[in-house]
Parts: sequence; C-alpha cells; structure tokens
Amino acid sequence: MRALKIVGVRQVAVRERLDPRPAAGEVVVQMKAAAICGSDLHPYRSMPATNQGRPMGHEFLGIVEDTGAQVTGLKRGDLVLSPFTYADNTCFWCRSGVQTSCPHGGRYGFGGVDGGQGEAVRVPQAPGTLVKLPVPADSALLPSLMTLTDVFCTGHHAAVTAQVGSGVSVAVIGDGAVGLCAVLAARRLGAEPIILMGRHADRTELGAGFGATDIVLASGEEGVEEVRKLTGGHGADAVLECVGSMQTLTTSFGAVRDGGVISRVGVPSYTDGPIGMDMIMRNITLTGGVDPARHYIGGILADVLEGRIEPGRVFDRTVGLDGVPDGYRAMAGRQSLKVLIIP
Ligand SMILES: [Zn+2]
Repeated sequence: MRALKIVGVRQVAVRERLDPRPAAGEVVVQMKAAAICGSDLHPYRSMPATNQGRPMGHEFLGIVEDTGAQVTGLKRGDLVLSPFTYADNTCFWCRSGVQTSCPHGGRYGFGGVDGGQGEAVRVPQAPGTLVKLPVPADSALLPSLMTLTDVFCTGHHAAVTAQVGSGVSVAVIGDGAVGLCAVLAARRLGAEPIILMGRHADRTELGAGFGATDIVLASGEEGVEEVRKLTGGHGADAVLECVGSMQTLTTSFGAVRDGGVISRVGVPSYTDGPIGMDMIMRNITLTGGVDPARHYIGGILADVLEGRIEPGRVFDRTVGLDGVPDGYRAMAGRQSLKVLIIP
C-alpha cells in the first residue's frame, strides 16, 4: 500500500510500505477520506530530518477491511470514523470524558502506529475508537463527517469548556479552520453575539456563513477595542482562542469580560502567560486543552447526518493521495484553508 511520510522540513512524500495486518483488538481501515490538519503543519515546518521518517495524518474515515481477534461490534464493510486519537473508551479516563488521557490510547503516526494519510490504516483499540457511520461510502456528507475526526469537535470543545450556551456573547480568535468551526459550534449552542476576529476577508466570509454576527479584521489592541464596543464596553462572556500564539492569548485577555472564560484550543507556541495578579483580580477562568473528540462525536453526529450543520464547508481543496504533498504546500502557504484527501 501507499502512505504519506515526513522525513524532514517540508519533505513529505507518498511511499510504498507493507500492507498493515490487524493484531488482537485492532482493525485495518481502507481509507475513503482523510484531511490535512493545521497541526500537521508543525512537523512540516520544523521536524528534524530522519532516515526512517514518520507516518502523517490523524483525520480519516473509511471501510473496515480486516478485523483482528477480540474485535466486537465492527465487521468487514462497515464505514467508520476515527477521532484523531485512539482510546479504549472503557477506562476511568475515557468514562470521565478525557479519552485523550486514556493510558491504552495514543496518537496516530507515533510509536509504530499508522498515520491517517495512507491507503489503509491499522487502528489500535478499534472497538473503543471507531464510530460507525450509517451512510454509504460515497455519501455527499463525507466532508462534514470528516470534520468530526478533529476540527469541528475541537471548535466544539472550545465552546463547551468556555460554557457557551444560549445568549452567551462569544469572541472567536482566529479564522483558520478551527476558529471557523468554533463559530459554527457556538452558533449551534445558541450563542449571541458571535464576534469573529480574523485577518482574511475570504475566510471570515465563511465565518459569517457559519453564524458570526460581527467580523473584526483588526488585531491586537485595536481588535480588542472593537470587541469591547460590540459587547456594551464589557468584553465577551467567552473567548475561544483558536490560534495558539502569545499575541492571541494576550488579545484574549483584552477581549474577555471580567468574570468571563477564555478557552484555548490552538496548539500553544508559548510556555508562559499573563496568569498573575491581573487575572486573579478580574476573575477570569482560563480553560481549554486538547479536544477529546471521541467524547463528542456521538452527540453531534445527528446534526451532520440531518444537515443541520455543514462544517465540511471548511474544505476548499480536494486532492488524491499523490496530491497530498501539494496540499501541504498549499496549506503552509495559506493558499488553502483546509485540504480534503479522497484517494
Ligand atoms: Zn481509556
């Protein structure tokens, strides 16, 4: 089979490798759709060169091709979706809703586990990890279903941890795919107003389509000023920080009201932050973290299947497996918001 590998900075390539075989508790999924994640761009921009390389990708869905021993509830031919980490979904941590902390779980592409950007994927902890999809493999819903592997659930996680609900004022920072999904998730939960802070008019336009009531194209202090104007001078009840830079974290503190919540789901590029006396005196809650997507998929699936939300609109380019290296270039160069892979 063929699968994507990264061997160094900006060096991703489709390589031949042995077909995966499932061990006990595992299944092999024939990939029907996959995607490039913003977080795939971190190793793409910075991974030191290696001879062996590493498989890439953690967003995929496909058809069960082969099942190992001790696999119940899944059979050959099932269309299944994987969250971006695998987990047993039975232990204390999984039952607590933090499947990303499962001691039997882990990340695709690490420790000998396949990546999602290949013709087939060997899935550990398959019965706990995979979610069956009640649609045919050529369903027009695949792009939106794909977003449940990571990006839409990540936006949803930002909204849920920030206690977004009916009538809550929200400021979303970042017009990447996660930020736009956070807008849609906040809208789905009844937030109003929803202010989207971004820099690219073509992306914020999709944000408006997803339910943003106001667009702020300014950043930094000027952007903070605009958010305050739009929220009666108070600041937003909830700020969803979907970028991960020190600058956007600082902007979040400026845009949130006293007593409000900042939720961070952007991969942080910083290790320290403004969490001292000022935050204590303002009663600001700082929350967020890695998204336990498996915890959310079941509750969101019906809205996608019944067409109430269409998060798949974040995909603005579709490539085959051979086009994946070009897809990385396009996303890294910001010519593409998010790339869908249909083999
Ligand atoms: Zn677990």
